[in-house]
Amino acid sequence: MGKGLPLLRSVADTLDSLGLAVCVFDDADNTLLWNRQFLKFFPEHAAHIYVGEPYRANLRRFYQGRLAADEMAKIDQYIDSGIARHRNQQRPYAFEHLGVRLWVSSLPLPGIGRIRIWQAHTSATDPQGPTILATTAIDGTALFDHVPDGVMVTGADDRILWANGPFVQMYGLPNRTAAIGAHLEWAYRTAWQGLESQSPELFEAGLLTLSEHTRFTGAPFELPLPGARWSRVIGQRSPDGKGFSAHVDITVLKRQQQQLLEAERRARESEAILQEKSALLEATLTYMEQGVMMVNADRVVVLCNRRARELLNLPQSLMDSRPTLDALTDYQLAAGELVHVPEEVLTSVRTGDIFDRPYAYDRKRRDGRVVEIHSMPIAGGGVLRTYTDITERRHAEERIRHVARHDGLTALVNREVFLESLATACAAEPGSAGFAVHFIDIDRFKPINDNYGHAIGDKVLALIADRMRIVARDGDVVARMGGDEFAVLQCRVEQTEQALGLAHRLLEDIARDMEIESHRLQVGASIGVALYPSAGLDADTLLRNADAAMYAAKAHGRDCVRVFGAHDNPASVY
Ligand code: GH3
Ligand code: MG
Repeated sequence: MGKGLPLLRSVADTLDSLGLAVCVFDDADNTLLWNRQFLKFFPEHAAHIYVGEPYRANLRRFYQGRLAADEMAKIDQYIDSGIARHRNQQRPYAFEHLGVRLWVSSLPLPGIGRIRIWQAHTSATDPQGPTILATTAIDGTALFDHVPDGVMVTGADDRILWANGPFVQMYGLPNRTAAIGAHLEWAYRTAWQGLESQSPELFEAGLLTLSEHTRFTGAPFELPLPGARWSRVIGQRSPDGKGFSAHVDITVLKRQQQQLLEAERRARESEAILQEKSALLEATLTYMEQGVMMVNADRVVVLCNRRARELLNLPQSLMDSRPTLDALTDYQLAAGELVHVPEEVLTSVRTGDIFDRPYAYDRKRRDGRVVEIHSMPIAGGGVLRTYTDITERRHAEERIRHVARHDGLTALVNREVFLESLATACAAEPGSAGFAVHFIDIDRFKPINDNYGHAIGDKVLALIADRMRIVARDGDVVARMGGDEFAVLQCRVEQTEQALGLAHRLLEDIARDMEIESHRLQVGASIGVALYPSAGLDADTLLRNADAAMYAAKAHGRDCVRVFGAHDNPASVY
């Protein structure tokens, strides 16, 4: 008996780490040893139980805590049947104690007495619970064959003395006998045999862990196994140098741990991405060329970037105070910034219409700059407004429009604009005043170019244009039709004389001496006149007829005026 006890002590402690309670009795039913888990399940024995205590005393304490007052009289009967059960129990049974359902087995220990083993009945251990402990021939170690985890017993030289079935299974050993005399490292290598390439780092890490724990110091450690399995080794050493270790399959736990780590890593990663994105957004908002303002559903201006403040001339302090849209509008009104804003826009801001539909308009600011404003309702209420300075764009557009409609040399309108004006005049209300079309071609212009050069020729054309502009009245249209051809649309013409009057003034002014770069020059012109409506009712006809009259003037010897439709009348040449 004395020899078996230290071994049993280690067994009891190992079972402790597996959550199993044990209490060992000698042949006379006196208590020999118990473990910590026993006191956890049966706290009533703490500080009372002692080595040599009869099982009867133990049972009495147990029943005293359990029996109701009216049952107390029968306590000895309960104790007697308890002892009988203890001696004869063949199969485990369950009972509830202090709120925990326990399975208890009572097993004979040859040469010692009996061991009772209690295990909490949980869904994880049931239905195996009772079968784990159901064994008949127990020799102190064989009972480990019935626990779900691997158990290994080593000698003082760390060689395996004994291992249970689950241990053999966990490390994929050929059989239990093969393990006897080997080290745990051998079992580990056997588990990985031919599978090292699956995960060489893990295999090596396991070897390292093993070498650090060759002499079990008591601290549990974890061993990686192929197929992503893990074993946790919980070891204890008895005073005689024997080692007992439980090898618990923690694959599921490990997987959950890794999933948790992965989830944590992802969460941290997405938080970092989010931070990076928001920093990027912040920088974009600050440095972008477009102003951005966001008004929430409560009409509070929650965002106004640097450019929006600049473009609208808004003080930072005002925007930092998160003003309402109405307070902002009042500020801008007082600052005179909204004088050019159409009344309907102001109304839509006040009534909240801008929260319901997109809006776009150009606001001319007090300093003359033009800001294009887009207002866009956003999901969940509120509105996003963008502000773009389009002053330069406006100028460029105007320049392009001017270039497209004017002659670059003389700055007069071009042929297209003249035809447009003519068409507009033709489309005027019937019965409104008539008008005249003058077609003017400079006489003998080519020799100017030939004698003085093209640049001088250009200046002559520009000077002629200036003179024609001065002669024409407000509302008349003076155009350069191309080359040395010009045209004038003279409005409000009732009689031929009025047209002739202008044509002669044009002739006179064109013919005046010019001094260009110290050259004294002089040109003449031939003018053809077409009167509306007598010479045509549409722009093309009128222009064609004025052109024809101009050719008639040329043919007549130049420097004169001809009126279309009066060819046969000598008086038509003036
Ligand atoms: P006519 O008396 O018959 O009108 O003859 P002309 O010498 O005036 O020549 P015409 O009207 O047949 O041709 C116009 C000339 O004007 C032809 C071209 O050399 C010149 N010309 C056309 N455009 C320009 C221009 O932009 N600048 C200059 N310097 N010359 C031009
Ligand atoms: Mg000419």
